[in-house]
Amino acid sequence: PEAITIQELANRMSERAVDVIRMLMKQGAMHKITDVIDADTAQLIAEELGHTVKRVAASDVEEGLFDATDDSTDTETRSPVVTVMGHVDHGKTSLLDALRHANVVSGEAGGITQHIGAYQVTSPETGKKITFIDTPGHAAFTAMRARGAKVTDIVVLVVAADDGVMPQTVEAINHAKAAGVPIIVAINKIDKPDAKPERVRTELLQHEVQVESFGGEVVDVEVSAKNKTNLDKLLEMIALQAEILDLKTNSERPAEGTVIEAKLDRGRGPVATVLVQRGTLRVGDIIVAGAEMGRVRALISDQGETVQEAGPSVPVEVLGFNGPPEAGDRLAVVENEARARQVTSYRAHQKRENAAASISGMRGSLEQMMS
Ligand code: GDP
Ligand code: MG
Repeated sequence: PEAITIQELANRMSERAVDVIRMLMKQGAMHKITDVIDADTAQLIAEELGHTVKRVAASDVEEGLFDATDDSTDTETRSPVVTVMGHVDHGKTSLLDALRHANVVSGEAGGITQHIGAYQVTSPETGKKITFIDTPGHAAFTAMRARGAKVTDIVVLVVAADDGVMPQTVEAINHAKAAGVPIIVAINKIDKPDAKPERVRTELLQHEVQVESFGGEVVDVEVSAKNKTNLDKLLEMIALQAEILDLKTNSERPAEGTVIEAKLDRGRGPVATVLVQRGTLRVGDIIVAGAEMGRVRALISDQGETVQEAGPSVPVEVLGFNGPPEAGDRLAVVENEARARQVTSYRAHQKRENAAASISGMRGSLEQMMS
């Protein structure tokens, strides 16, 4: 059942909690400020204090925040968003680093100072951009999927040619398949004398990843992150796959996106890396993500530059949240602060209720265990 703490009820009415407690006392109930009262009692008190009560359902609050079902206005082509996955030590970080520098003109090499959780690479061949999410790790991918966020268009599966398919390789394959995301295989460490790329292809077959040379449709590229071999080919294959996917968006609408990672920075306050997916995010926009809200104070690009706006498939650091949201939280721009407060206070309430429910569930099972 719906419930609310006395403190929160007072906050929402802009009344003092003592007045709420006094009112409850008149009705014969003694309460502390942290006590939880049910929705009916809360409504009674609110009306006694002269407030009009409007009970809201999730559908009312969340209504209109995301427009994902209506893609009729998505007519612009957008860049693909790629996540690199694979077994530990197979070279995910090395490959991401090598790709990051693949499009940097030599003199510029020292210029990359800022590191945000995602970056864009411009293919030297096609001039087209590809967005890489630089939070390798299945945990991040899983966390995002658990929150219903779909950020990745393509998974690049890194398999070390000297090690072959390993447990986390299989995990990554399963993640990609469950999410319905196409895989491109990067057979890495091809420079090693004991590299056996053909063995990798055979092992992949056992996990229903059938590469082209085996009659399948999965593209594989032999690469060396160390020697920067075939990186341009990998980029080309990603661009090709993106063309097949025919990715569309609409930049002319309020922004929607997903939080890739977020933290509380000592100097700058809450900082979130956001992948914009539709629309354009601008400085000054009022935003909500999970149970957090804010007003965009600054946007910082993957190059560490301050920018005024970020369009679809562009990753940016967002400053201006009141608190750090969580990875996988979806970001939306809303029309005003009142709306932002309505959404976030509702979600914060839901979150507390869920936490309380899981704690009492835990107690229950603990008691069972003790008896
Ligand atoms: P991750 O755990 O998947 O992120 O793997 P890392 O990128 O940290 O790489 C693990 C190790 O493999 C490091 O010592 C890298 O230097 C090495 N490594 C990565 N790519 C290559 C490659 O193409 N060739 C060789 N010889 N070593 C590589
Ligand atoms: Mg790594």
